[in-house]
Amino acid sequence: MFLERISQSPVQRRGCIEVICGSMFSGKTEELIRRMKRAQFAKQRVEIFKPSIDTRYSESDVVSHDKNVITSTPVESSSTILLLAQDVDVVGVDEAQFFDPGIVEVCTELARRGIRVIVAGLDVDFMGRPFGPMPQLMAIAEDVYKAHAICVRCGSLAYVSHRLVDSDKRVLLGEKEEYEPICRECFNQLFPDNQLT
Ligand code: ZN
Repeated sequence: MFLERISQSPVQRRGCIEVICGSMFSGKTEELIRRMKRAQFAKQRVEIFKPSIDTRYSESDVVSHDKNVITSTPVESSSTILLLAQDVDVVGVDEAQFFDPGIVEVCTELARRGIRVIVAGLDVDFMGRPFGPMPQLMAIAEDVYKAHAICVRCGSLAYVSHRLVDSDKRVLLGEKEEYEPICRECFNQLFPDNQLT
């Protein structure tokens, strides 16, 4: 389990970037919420941002599938985070795969200001392709945690969120009836000719 190094002293405050990634149903939002709540317990000021495209449940809350709730702010673009993240110790970013490429610079700048940045997002899309700015965020992070769901077909560790509805749209916000987590073996059986493009 990830154990953070929380410093109470503003003098010792050090910025850093942590990434929590994985397929849908892997528990990555739960892990983001766990870390944010622990920071709150440590009397740190926390703020969560998510892209306004993600309006599955609520306009202003980050809600994981098991209904854990922590208040968040939906933003249109990553640059807005820099304006809004004033007087905070920890910034959480949820559904980071949907953000514009500028999110990489934004996270770097926040960390430069001494802020701990915790980013959660899908590492790959429904065809197993690296998703949006996630590869760059994983590259610049001090710590990367890959969460895994369980393959609904064979019980192995899942790595991709297989889409059950027929659509080519990459951005299709998911619920249980639209996606299933599956492992590489089962994915290869479904798509024997799939080439990463
Ligand atoms: Zn499987």
